[in-house]
Amino acid sequence: MSTFLELGLKEPINKALTDLGYEKPTVIQEKAIPQIISSTDDLKAFAQTGTGKTAAFSLPILELIDETNSNVQAIILSPTRELAVQIGNNIKDFCKYLKGVKVTTVYGGSSMEDQIRSLKRGSQIVVGTPGRTVDLINRRALKLGNVQWLVLDEADEMLNMGFKDELDKVLEATPETKQTLLFSATFPREVEAIARNYMTKPVEITSGEKNQGSDNVSHEYYDVTERTRYPALKRIADLNPNIYAIIFCRTRRETQEVADNLIKDGYNADALHGDLSQAQRDSVMGKFRKKTIQILVATDVAARGLDVTELTHVINHKLPDQIENYNHRSGRTGRAGNKGISIVLVNGKEKGKLRPIERIIKKKFIETKVPSGKEICQNQLMHLIDKVQNITVNESQINEFLPSIYEKLADLDREELIKKFVSLEFNTMLAYYENAKDLNDLSKGNSRSRSVDENMTRFFINIGRKDSLNPAKLIGLINDQNIGDKIEIGAIDILDTFSFFEIDKNYENDTLEAFSSNQPDFDGRSVNVEITKKERSGGGRRGGRKPFGKKDGGFGRRRNSEGSSDSRRSNNGDRRDRRSSERSSSSGDRKSGGFGRKRRER
Ligand code: AMP
Repeated sequence: MSTFLELGLKEPINKALTDLGYEKPTVIQEKAIPQIISSTDDLKAFAQTGTGKTAAFSLPILELIDETNSNVQAIILSPTRELAVQIGNNIKDFCKYLKGVKVTTVYGGSSMEDQIRSLKRGSQIVVGTPGRTVDLINRRALKLGNVQWLVLDEADEMLNMGFKDELDKVLEATPETKQTLLFSATFPREVEAIARNYMTKPVEITSGEKNQGSDNVSHEYYDVTERTRYPALKRIADLNPNIYAIIFCRTRRETQEVADNLIKDGYNADALHGDLSQAQRDSVMGKFRKKTIQILVATDVAARGLDVTELTHVINHKLPDQIENYNHRSGRTGRAGNKGISIVLVNGKEKGKLRPIERIIKKKFIETKVPSGKEICQNQLMHLIDKVQNITVNESQINEFLPSIYEKLADLDREELIKKFVSLEFNTMLAYYENAKDLNDLSKGNSRSRSVDENMTRFFINIGRKDSLNPAKLIGLINDQNIGDKIEIGAIDILDTFSFFEIDKNYENDTLEAFSSNQPDFDGRSVNVEITKKERSGGGRRGGRKPFGKKDGGFGRRRNSEGSSDSRRSNNGDRRDRRSSERSSSSGDRKSGGFGRKRRER
């Protein structure tokens, strides 16, 4: 194993790396650094996430950059704002002792004027998101005519996000002679297309097998239903008092909903997704990095490439639509030599996605049972005892209070005293999990469960088998009414002359209104839809969903105890306002009280 100096880096860079605690190069750094320093060939580098990609492309650039020339010499494109900021900050750390090197990070949602001013002062390295980079090129504030290195980081994601035109535009603005460096953790067809279209005979390097997940991550799955998904999530958090996790969701709405519910339930959680302003996103990320927030609920896009070391868990609240993204998600943990756990919550239908993922990560998922209330209480109790053992007593401050405390507690013996102190912290959790059900039982046979789903409203429709209605046609008919972008259609029971279907409760009125105003007919018969009582006749089947996603799950009820729910999930009307008021009411106290949650006054 070489040292950074042996790879060809100069002492000021080496010194900065030592300051950062980088003792030796990672595999990808060992391969990429000398290659980029010694050759102007384009480079296609496939590296698992968390293996040091950023340093692998930026250190050789810093080695070669001309500090005396203030033109832009390197442009680094990254798909998301957070990742651009992270890369920019990493590079600033790396060039701590290269006083002549200036780095500017440009991204949407923050002041264009500040970025233009910084560019005017001269920056050899610009890190940007594609959209803002093109804006600045169009305004002639960013001139790429002298660029020697173009780095495309997470290029597949840039294409997924629809940045093809922006990539073309940036490429047009850079000289033919530049060296293009493409770094990616996954290897889908789109990345190959980029390599073909934008690169000349690239040299290919890999660190480990393509698409294989990090060795430091173990993968677990939990069987859930839509009913148990959220309670299971909470139990996982409760079982791990020191949890520091990202919970991944498929859509912005699901993300906000899960975060809102966790915040309401007293967890140190917050949401990160594209509907938030840049200032909100920066603030959430800042708090998460400082561990003021323990649980970040995020979309794939917002959390892509984020490097937060020491994450204990990645939790897939729902699996990603594209299974390749699982690798990106799980790669957020197990970084820089740490161990991590990637958890997947799957219902009966989703379970089929696990095998293809196992083939990609070349590891098996371990089936794990949702912890019981007793297990959680036991873990929390031991955590509390550990804290007591390790607490530092501030002798000088506490001494003056001790005599009166001793006097008050004089009648209690050691055992009683311990019991009382422990109960003080512990009673809330005991009460919460008293009568807690076995969620694994509730999840059995989930996808065909005949029990009533309280999140759904059951509708009667006056057509049935005799009208040649079948579930597919009924789903088509419902979709044709344009009730909402992402409604979930639940159970469908087709009977001879009439039928029943379920729709997400939040869309109850929209459904009635849509059928009443559209007045659709089915094979010449006018259709009538009414709300009906929540009973099922049995023998029906689960319905399908709208073609582009569904209303996102989220059991989402606030509970006083797991045995009883005290409020219904609220309609999504104005989530942002609701969220900020909740945020203000729950902000303030940092870090958890007992049980991995903020202390909550009940
Ligand atoms: P990256 O893949 O660039 O997001 O880096 C993942 C994490 O590994 C970051 O926290 C880096 O600071 C850290 N890292 C990168 N290279 C090294 C190294 N050679 N030694 C120790 N840590 C490193």
